[in-house]
Amino acid sequence: MKKSAKFRCPHCQTILTKCEMDQVLGEAGGFMVFGPSVETCPACGNPIDRLSIVNGKYDVKKSLFESIMEVVVIVAFLGFLAWLLSHC
Ligand SMILES: [Zn+2]
Repeated sequence: MKKSAKFRCPHCQTILTKCEMDQVLGEAGGFMVFGPSVETCPACGNPIDRLSIVNGKYDVKKSLFESIMEVVVIVAFLGFLAWLLSHC
């Protein structure tokens, strides 16, 4: 399951973007981090637990529109597959 690239600071609720490494680690299961175990929020200066960032604890929830788009893409893909199978 793809995780969000954005997360919310648990202290000040500012929406921040995960660094590439944290996104990759999140995709890989989100159970470990490399380097410092905390990240400093650029907005409020408070430390944020990186492991929680990586495993999606602070992820920004997807909007309804994005969720619908995801379903549309999947349905379109399945429809395409069905079309392929019925034409060969
Ligand atoms: Zn903050």
